[in-house]
Amino acid sequence: MSKILVVAERKDNELRNVSFEAIAAAKKIDADAEVVGVVCGEDDLESLANDLIYHGADRAVTVKHDNLKTYTSEGYSQAILAVIEQESPDGIVMGHTSIGKDLSPKLASRLNTGLVSDVVDIEKDGDQPVFIRPIYSGKAFEKKVIKDGLTFVTIRPNNIAKLEEDPSRSGEIRSVDVDVKDLKTIVKEVIKKASDGVDLSEAKVVVAGGRGVKSKEGFKPLYELAEVLGGAVGASRGACDAEYCDYSLQIGQTGKVVTPDLYIAVGISGAIQHLAGMSNSKVIVAINKDPEANIFNIADYGIVGDLFEVVPMLIEELKKVKV
Ligand code: FAD
Repeated sequence: MSKILVVAERKDNELRNVSFEAIAAAKKIDADAEVVGVVCGEDDLESLANDLIYHGADRAVTVKHDNLKTYTSEGYSQAILAVIEQESPDGIVMGHTSIGKDLSPKLASRLNTGLVSDVVDIEKDGDQPVFIRPIYSGKAFEKKVIKDGLTFVTIRPNNIAKLEEDPSRSGEIRSVDVDVKDLKTIVKEVIKKASDGVDLSEAKVVVAGGRGVKSKEGFKPLYELAEVLGGAVGASRGACDAEYCDYSLQIGQTGKVVTPDLYIAVGISGAIQHLAGMSNSKVIVAINKDPEANIFNIADYGIVGDLFEVVPMLIEELKKVKV
């Protein structure tokens, strides 16, 4: 039986959904694998460790240290490397998130192993896991197999469904002491944005606005639509460049990559660089007054019309359905 380590990720005092998806990915790699979740932090980690077990991990390892309060690549790589040394896993899975993208290449180079990043699905060819990942900004997919060394992968959030939570599951929780030290950088303070709502990269619904929204004010109905749908607001670079919204909302080649169940593109033309960040969304709805806009080529549903009329109508109708 193989052993797969899942590196969990925290946001505040909760685990990010991608941690649970990584457990499901580990089971897809090897259904019989012993899955060991790892969670780091500075406070009580037991309930987070239990959460990993409820979502399919067989046991969990916690690393508690003051220097792990907030993520730093040095601190977390010291902690995770120590766990890897003790556990000697055959595989490692983590989210292809900002943290995963920072940490995984660092760990892979220290471990002198390869890394398959941004995996969206895992198939099997006999016993051999086959990793599917987008290439050329999402225009094609490649299938990769690992011939030698550790099975080290990062998974794109929102693509591999997590296993059903089962609070009756139990497993060993082991705490590992690691002296996380000699950090060259420390995080003094994390200043949150006031509008920190649903996490864009993990949102099930994204309402994204483009230059067609025309102003900061014009984004307000988009926030209302996102709220009615329980989603997050995103944007094209056109909208960010025009200062209608913050760059943290930018979706695309040089922004965030999202894969929600529903993506509503409002006043976005559908430039290739934008599509790179959202074309794998499960259902795409486009609202644009130009019937020739490129976004309609990838949309499942298109509404040709003025967004300033269509969006309020949508909000009104959706509110009726919700009541
Ligand atoms: P526009 O192309 O100006 O489109 C606005 C759309 O709104 C039009 O289709 C118009 O018909 C519609 N519209 C206008 N008024 C209304 C109305 N009242 N009702 C309905 N529809 C209306 N872009 C990204 O998004 N993300 C990236 O990560 C990114 N990275 C880039 C990297 C590089 C190296 C480069 C060169 C470019 C990058 N871009 C990126 C920019 C990209 O090429 C486009 O310029 C940008 O996506 C355009 O944004 P937009 O669709 O909002 O604006």
